[in-house]
Amino acid sequence: MTKTGIIWSDQFTKYNLGEGHPMNARRLDIPYQLYKSLDFLNNPSFVEYTPVEASEDDILRYHSKNYIKMVKSLSKAGDGYYGRYGLGTGDCPVFPEMHESSSLIVGGTLEGIKRIMNKDVHQAFSLMAGLHHAFEERAAGFCYYNDAVVAINYLQEEYEMKRVLYIDTDVHHGDGVLDAFYSNKNVLGVSIHESPQFLFPGTGLSDEIGNEDGLGYTINIPLFPGTWDELYIDLFERTIPCIWKEYDPEFIIWQCGADGHFGDILGHLNLTTNLYNYLGNRISELSNNGSADGRLLLLGGGGYNPDSVARVWMATLAGISGITLPEYSPKEWIDYCKKTYEVDVSPKLNDIKLDPLKIERHALINEANSQYLQVLKEELVEAGKWNICAEKI
Ligand SMILES: [Zn+2]
Repeated sequence: MTKTGIIWSDQFTKYNLGEGHPMNARRLDIPYQLYKSLDFLNNPSFVEYTPVEASEDDILRYHSKNYIKMVKSLSKAGDGYYGRYGLGTGDCPVFPEMHESSSLIVGGTLEGIKRIMNKDVHQAFSLMAGLHHAFEERAAGFCYYNDAVVAINYLQEEYEMKRVLYIDTDVHHGDGVLDAFYSNKNVLGVSIHESPQFLFPGTGLSDEIGNEDGLGYTINIPLFPGTWDELYIDLFERTIPCIWKEYDPEFIIWQCGADGHFGDILGHLNLTTNLYNYLGNRISELSNNGSADGRLLLLGGGGYNPDSVARVWMATLAGISGITLPEYSPKEWIDYCKKTYEVDVSPKLNDIKLDPLKIERHALINEANSQYLQVLKEELVEAGKWNICAEKI
C-alpha cells in the first residue's frame, strides 16, 4: 500500500491575508475539514505530520538576508509598506505574523521532503504550500517566501540531487520557481497554466524554454481560457510523459493548485475534479518509474473557491493514493461550512463531466492551444532538445 504523508498545522490558517482577500483562512480550513469529515485521519493510507517553522538558514537557501530582515520587521509591526520588495501591496499586504506563518509553510514543505527521504512515507502532500510567485527579493501574487525553491535547493544541497522535476498545474504560471532555475539543467521546470495573455503574472508563453545550461529544461504549456478536461489531458500526454521519462528525475515536486477548477474566482478554465483525479493517478504512476522510485511531494498551491479547493485536493489525493471517494459530500462537512462560514458547498464530491461541444467557442480554444503547442515544438526542435519527444508533440 502506498502511504501518503499529510503535512498539516492548525497554525497554517494564520497565513490570512485578510477576510476580503482571496488568500484567507476559509479557503484552507474548508478543505481540511473535508479531509477530516472523510475520516482520513483514521485511514491507514494516510499519516499526518505537524511541521515547525523553517530556520532562517533554510530560508536563506533562496531569499536574501535583507529581504528576510524587512519581512521580519514589517511582520512585527503588523502593517506597513516597502515597495521595492513588493511588501504592503494589494496582492501582498503586510499582516501580523507574516514572517512566522510564511516560515511555517517553508517548514511544512521541508518536512515533506525529509519524511520522503527518510522513507517514512512514499509521497507527501503539504496543503498550505507552493507559494510559487515569490522571488529572491520580491513578494508577489500572495507569496512571500518561495517554499518550492527553498525545497529544491535543499534537495540539491543536502541530498546532491542532480535531476529534480518541478511540475506546476496551478492556473497561474509558476514564475518564481521557473525563473530561479531558468538556466539550470538540474531542475526540469514544467508549468501548465492559463495563458499569460489573460491572467497574472503575464509570463509563461511556450517560447520560454530556458537559457544557457538550462536551455530546454523549462517547459511552458499555456492554456486558452475555457480549456476543458479532455483537451488538457491531450496536451499533457503529448508532451510531459516522454520528456519526463527521458529526463528520469530523482525527485518530483508537484504544485497542484486548485484554481484551474471551473468554480474558481480568479481563473477562467473549465477543469473538473475528474481531471485532477486523472492527474493524481498519472503523476503518481510516472513518479513510480525510473530513478524517482515514487518520491513525490505535492504542494497545495492556489485555489480561491473553498468548495472547489476542497473537492479538487481530495480528488488529487484519491488519485495519488489509489482510493475512491464516496459519491456524496459528508453531511458533517456541509453543516460545518454553513454554520461557520455561511458557505454552501456541493452535495456531491465529484463534478459531472462537461460536454466539450457545449463549451462556448470550443473550436477556437482547441485551435489556440494547438498553436501554443506548435511554438513549443518549434522552439525545442530549434534548440535541439528532447528530439524524439519534440517530434511527437
Ligand atoms: Zn494560482
